[in-house]
Amino acid sequence: MRMSQIFAPTLREVPSEADIPSHQLMLRAGMIRKAVSGVYSYLHLGCRVVRKIEEIVREEMDRQGAQEVLMPAIQSADIWRETGRWDDYGNEMFRLKDRHGREMCLGPTHEEIVTVTVRDEIRSYRQLPKILYQIQTKYRDEIRPRFGVMRSREFIMKDAYSFDRDNEGLDSNYSRMYEAYCRVFSRCGVDYRVVEADAGAIGGSQNHEFMVVSEVGEDALVFCDACGYGANVERAESARPPERDHDTDKVRTGIRKVSTPGMRTVEEVTSYLQVGPSKLLKTLLYMADGEPVAAVIRGDRDLNEAKLKRTLGVRELELASPEIIERVSGAPVGFTGPVGLREQVKIVADWEAVVVEDAVVGANAADAHLAGANYGVDYSADIIADIRNVVAGDACPRCGAELRGARGVEVGHLFKLGTKYSSALGVNYLDEGGVDNPVVMGCYGIGITRTAAAIIEAHHDDDGIIWPMSVAPYQVLVMPLNTSENLQVEVAERIYSELGGYGVEVVIDDRDERPGVKFKDADLIGFPIRVIVGPKHLGDGEVEVSMRSDGGVELVEIDNVAAHVTKMVDRELSALMPH
Ligand code: ATP
Ligand code: MG
Repeated sequence: MRMSQIFAPTLREVPSEADIPSHQLMLRAGMIRKAVSGVYSYLHLGCRVVRKIEEIVREEMDRQGAQEVLMPAIQSADIWRETGRWDDYGNEMFRLKDRHGREMCLGPTHEEIVTVTVRDEIRSYRQLPKILYQIQTKYRDEIRPRFGVMRSREFIMKDAYSFDRDNEGLDSNYSRMYEAYCRVFSRCGVDYRVVEADAGAIGGSQNHEFMVVSEVGEDALVFCDACGYGANVERAESARPPERDHDTDKVRTGIRKVSTPGMRTVEEVTSYLQVGPSKLLKTLLYMADGEPVAAVIRGDRDLNEAKLKRTLGVRELELASPEIIERVSGAPVGFTGPVGLREQVKIVADWEAVVVEDAVVGANAADAHLAGANYGVDYSADIIADIRNVVAGDACPRCGAELRGARGVEVGHLFKLGTKYSSALGVNYLDEGGVDNPVVMGCYGIGITRTAAAIIEAHHDDDGIIWPMSVAPYQVLVMPLNTSENLQVEVAERIYSELGGYGVEVVIDDRDERPGVKFKDADLIGFPIRVIVGPKHLGDGEVEVSMRSDGGVELVEIDNVAAHVTKMVDRELSALMPH
């Protein structure tokens, strides 16, 4: 490819619409252009990167015995109604009608359609197990599309689905996919972590997320360096605090009403009463599947809605309106408390909240709180459970060591679905004894386009992208410094064609531009290896070969350079290959 012809319009300025390095660099390096919010065109370089990631994923899927298929983006509402997800999926689903008024959607994911397809074809245990995968465009009308292709509304995903006779089979396919993912992300040159995750709308039991640790990550993670536990904060368990010993309780202050005029927030109440936020219990009212419930947690903690949902076993959870709060607690917003509230609603208390002695709680009366409240004496709960967000510094739920926090970009996700979809959609197979059983399923996603952005987050500097060899749009750039010097052009053209002959992916910067401009573009686009043909060494029959990653430069004889650079490319590629 010739730089004079390549469709990679680079930008010198940092585009104002882009907040994070990968988004800025993808725009600046001419990899992508925005069509509308959250929807992008991939120009030549962006497209090549995406294809390379896809190819790595394809090779690793095939290696585990998965079979590639390609399912439609357009799906009928009917199959989504069968699983109840037509309603559950909400506004994230792009919905449309055909000319006959039939409801359809642009697939945000493919559990329904793959399950229905298999239902119609698989009858016997002899046809199992199977893993089917596709690399295909997904559509999600995200509330907040942002960070370029990191969270977009149209994106490419690899989604795989496994079908087994039993849980044992599922376990073994799950570990195959797990291994494939480890290999994929190693080959992409990113440092990844595997964490336990929340199952969200997809459902199912065990699941893991593959995360690229990065400041720009939208997910908060915690890790234990002592035992290896790692989890998404959405999911992370908190260690159960030691029980309070009621027999040896010190003399308590006794519960009493205190006036807190107009003070509703934790900050206002605690500073007014001169207590720490961990001494205050906040009581949050929610509507859970239409019923009000109260959740009690410490003032310095955040409620984890996913945990509360799981604890209650409900589908919908939203904060109650001020009207409902008034009706249930008898007081305006900001003064709800657990004392006496159980007569009105079910109470779920965090296990850390109930061990707080002499707590401050809302009085269920305007402008008042209660001080000196104790669990089991002044209030009780229907359920005591872990319903708060874990934070860095908490004790590890497995071993008790201190948890460390980090942020991560979710690039892959593995789920054990069990029989959730096969039961809902009636996917059964006949076993050896002629008995009908539901098929046991798993599903496995990789965000291909998000991975491209995550790689850039992990590999860039102030000047541009530093591609790992495996995913670079092109491997080598040959740069004659001055295109009006015939000898430079001749030598560069020769190296360019020799490298092409060796199968190296090479670009020649044949533009009549100043060296400064060429170097800037080379850094920005991030070709891993650069061959510079300039006046300084040509007289000695040599050219300069340099690496974008470490800036290391060596002089190589013109006659050897193609073979030498080809070896460098191979060496870089095999360094990324897991053994
Ligand atoms: P997130 O929590 O980031 O919204 P998710 O849990 O909804 O992700 P999955 O349904 O598990 O994502 O999809 C599988 C993979 O697809 C994710 O791990 C991620 O890499 C990618 N992905 C999901 N949503 C987007 C998006 N809006 N833009 C780009 N990639 C995405
Ligand atoms: Mg999502």
